[in-house]
Amino acid sequence: MGEERRDERGVREARDAREGAQEVGGSWGRSVRPEEAEAWEALVATARRTVSDGLVVGTSGNVSVRVGDTVLVTPSGVPYDRLTPEDVTGVDLDGGRVLGSLVPTSELPMHLAVYRATDAGAVVHTHAVHATAVSTLVPGLPLIHYMAAALGGPVRVAPYATYGTQELAENMLRALTDRTACLLQNHGTISYGTTLDQAYDRTAQLEWMCRLWLTAASVPGLSPTLLSEGQVAEAGERLRGYGQRG
Ligand SMILES: [Zn+2]
Repeated sequence: MGEERRDERGVREARDAREGAQEVGGSWGRSVRPEEAEAWEALVATARRTVSDGLVVGTSGNVSVRVGDTVLVTPSGVPYDRLTPEDVTGVDLDGGRVLGSLVPTSELPMHLAVYRATDAGAVVHTHAVHATAVSTLVPGLPLIHYMAAALGGPVRVAPYATYGTQELAENMLRALTDRTACLLQNHGTISYGTTLDQAYDRTAQLEWMCRLWLTAASVPGLSPTLLSEGQVAEAGERLRGYGQRG
């Protein structure tokens, strides 16, 4: 056992040196609670899914999940396939570190802003290619499909601000008013949900809708028909009805 542990540490040290993971020095605060260990496992699985489904390349996105007053979040600079149970990274709602020894994602201000302003249980941020492309073309995703209703209505684009800044977090919150997802201009997507699966699914739906609009809008000589806000609102009422029955 002792040798195994030393080997693991050796591998980790080599990995950290290789991948540029930042250690803040020593573990922070308390030990990991069982529900946090479980949530971390689900967070890592979701983060890996964003890569395997093509929504994220390398470490260009980040995922968080809330457990009580603690927010578990992907650390900066560690590829998701290398995250282990020991890498649990947790902060409080003010961003103070409470768990782990790795530096949290640089997009922490956006994640925390969502938790402070909404009842979110999980947040997913990506640089998905079609969504990011749309964010450079229009101030909002045109109403190409009624599934916009599943995100609360027409999807807005938050004006550009430097990544990791409070300004970006504020722009994002305005774009998220009455919505569960938005685009970030020349940057990517952010969405939230009650669970990691719901936040992930909303991201995937948003990327799909952006791809749909780009596909339809790229046919020479034709432009796509769009839905009215009323039609999307009506779909939203039906979707809520389906939710109750289901
Ligand atoms: Zn980003």
